[in-house]
Amino acid sequence: MNINNLPLYMQHKFSQHMRTLATLGELEPSEEVRMVLKRTAREINLYLSNFKCEKCQTKDNLTTHHLVYKIQRHYIQAQRYYKQRYYFGNQAILCCDCHNRAHPGSVTQKAEKYIDPKLISKIKKRCQNGTN
Ligand SMILES: [Zn+2]
Ligand SMILES: [Zn+2]
Repeated sequence: MNINNLPLYMQHKFSQHMRTLATLGELEPSEEVRMVLKRTAREINLYLSNFKCEKCQTKDNLTTHHLVYKIQRHYIQAQRYYKQRYYFGNQAILCCDCHNRAHPGSVTQKAEKYIDPKLISKIKKRCQNGTN
């Protein structure tokens, strides 16, 4: 991925993500830091997946899936875990059905677990406008 090819808004999100990731150490990051990392990762991945499920390409009922999962915390060194766990590349955009196939029973049918379509429209608009 060439960061210069991203819309300005995404370049800003990417820088914010990498800057925040660089601050992670041996200790569990604060709620605030975790939220910044999760949100920036979600925006970057939504953009990179063209706002679709990475498996079946649907635009409906999107969720975020993590490759390095929480259980791994007990098996790898703390700083390495945090840096991998919260890195945007650790997150994939999957629809509810594909996510459930990736690890059955992981996603409930509850609407609040889905990425809000309003957030998706907001990100698309910000990418087009070139604003932060
Ligand atoms: Zn899917
Ligand atoms: Zn998952």
